[in-house]
Amino acid sequence: MGNCPYCKQKVSINDVKTETRGVGSKREIMYMCPHCESILGFSRSRYLV
Ligand SMILES: [Zn+2]
Repeated sequence: MGNCPYCKQKVSINDVKTETRGVGSKREIMYMCPHCESILGFSRSRYLV
């Protein structure tokens, strides 16, 4: 995944914090840096599986 653009620390897909928002078909996953908790991006939940 690369480095966090905010704190410049290494962030991997295994380390990244996720938070689910919304319900049903509008559900999205929010990705957050595990170090500084900045939001790195969003993804539709279906793309994760
Ligand atoms: Zn960070």
